[in-house]
Amino acid sequence: MHRTIALLGPPGSGKGTQAARLQEEFGYTPLSTGRLLRAARQDGTEIGRRAGAYMDRGELVPDDLILAIVRDAVDDFEGKALLFDGFPRTRAQAETMTQGLAQLGRELGAAILIDVPDDVVVERILGRAQGRSDDNPETVRERLRVYHGEIDPMISYYEGLGLLRRVDGAGDPDAVYAQVRRSASAEG
Ligand code: ADP
Repeated sequence: MHRTIALLGPPGSGKGTQAARLQEEFGYTPLSTGRLLRAARQDGTEIGRRAGAYMDRGELVPDDLILAIVRDAVDDFEGKALLFDGFPRTRAQAETMTQGLAQLGRELGAAILIDVPDDVVVERILGRAQGRSDDNPETVRERLRVYHGEIDPMISYYEGLGLLRRVDGAGDPDAVYAQVRRSASAEG
């Protein structure tokens, strides 16, 4: 298995579910920027307060806050297999990630894109009702709009590096995981 992988895909594409499975089967340590941001908000930290307004509007949190939160977390990750979920989200973040990993003596092994059509995403998110303040119809629409605005440049970036792996995310979690697992293996 690759020691460092990233899961890309729209909100509601099941990145968290797939990350949990990879964690269980292969011991990956997951790093979800969305989860770190929600924890920071709950703890009432400065970063959490500043990020909250963007999150509730479905907009991207500015890079300086994201990079600060990722850098803090990455300190604990020496020697571990790393799985990024929700980061990178823009080509600029992807480029910064490449540089940051190189400084840590690591490199990304695969960028796994979980493809799911918008109508499926909307249905899933509005159905899951986990009480997230950004899971309402307007914010979900905005998160999808932001996603589509950012994903193509990231896809070309990772295609150029030969790291992009596409997975059909519309099926059930087992079917998606079979593909994700293959993509995370060093052969995939
Ligand atoms: P989803 O994938 O369903 O949108 P996340 O938990 O990944 O859920 O993200 C929730 C929100 O957190 C996003 O809408 C955005 O405001 C913010 N966020 C998370 N990760 C990033 C990131 N890498 N860059 C900018 N904003 C982010």
